[in-house]
Amino acid sequence: MRRKVSREYLKKAELPLIVEIGEGRRKMVRDIIDNLEVSSILMLTGKTSYELAGSKIENRISDVLVKKFFVKKSGTEEVRRIEVETGYTDVDCVLGVGGGKVIDIAKVLASEINAAFISIPTVASHDGIASPVATFKENGNPISISTRPPAAVIADLLILRHSPIRLLRSGYGDLLSNVTAVKDWRLAKEKVGEDFNEVAASMALMPANLMLSTKGLDLQEVRILEMLVRGLILSGVAISLVNSSRPASGAEHKFSHALGFLGYGKGTHGENVGLGAIIMEYLHEKYYGGADWYRIKESLETIQAPTTIKEIGLTKEQCIQALQRAKKIRQKRYTILEDVKPSKDELEMVLKKTGVV
Ligand SMILES: [Zn+2]
Repeated sequence: MRRKVSREYLKKAELPLIVEIGEGRRKMVRDIIDNLEVSSILMLTGKTSYELAGSKIENRISDVLVKKFFVKKSGTEEVRRIEVETGYTDVDCVLGVGGGKVIDIAKVLASEINAAFISIPTVASHDGIASPVATFKENGNPISISTRPPAAVIADLLILRHSPIRLLRSGYGDLLSNVTAVKDWRLAKEKVGEDFNEVAASMALMPANLMLSTKGLDLQEVRILEMLVRGLILSGVAISLVNSSRPASGAEHKFSHALGFLGYGKGTHGENVGLGAIIMEYLHEKYYGGADWYRIKESLETIQAPTTIKEIGLTKEQCIQALQRAKKIRQKRYTILEDVKPSKDELEMVLKKTGVV
């Protein structure tokens, strides 16, 4: 069957112009801003990130730095506060040095004031380090905001290596979740004729598969950390390419969003989606074959990421409730949950068989 493909988004697709991954790459910040012909910068950072990396970066860009802000909290209100405090001065670049909160605020701010965004992550806990999506919690509910992708991403492995191990494990969970996200996307293409982009799907999937087939993963080893960071950046670029989180977000992400809405558990984003990926991969395997839930579970165990609900502070009832709620989230995004509509009994069976409960 020949399908009509929308070309519009390809004309508009924006991708990072510069991506630097490696040890000591923060030192390239000067070259990069010169390259991008940036002449006025707002720098956003966090307290720890500033001590760790921000102050050294500040020294290299002091002549073009208009103002520096410490991000205090997440959310659109914080974006507003910073915007007001800048006095609406014209700047052509927002540079974010920090964890997820700082990067999210910086990318939203950059989009709003139409400035280039440079992402210098100090943790690699999810694919947001290079994606055009920010996630905030507003009135207790998680919301996603579309932004422009970063003009440049500088991933310094010396900085990232020192980020808390739990966050690196979370990053791995988010990367692995691409396996089920892409399966869901293919399913949506076959069942409901959704647009599918093989390049974006491969960009999201290949780094995840590469890591899944690597034995003895140790996320603090530079070579492995580099694979992880490269994978998370490629996920972000895949999202930019199709202007949708589709390549990196399927039913396992709906599960995580449902947990957020319900206020259940204490897992990070990456922990929730990693666990969700085991469950969704099981359903794919059962109904369509060509999947291997055990491989995902085993890999998460190798790096000591949670593979049971107990580890993320969930009861069985809460987990089932979230899985049922997940179907109601983003209903237009067709996934294995919309496809097989598992009953409560079936969900209980899946949790038991996968050892998640
Ligand atoms: Zn994610």
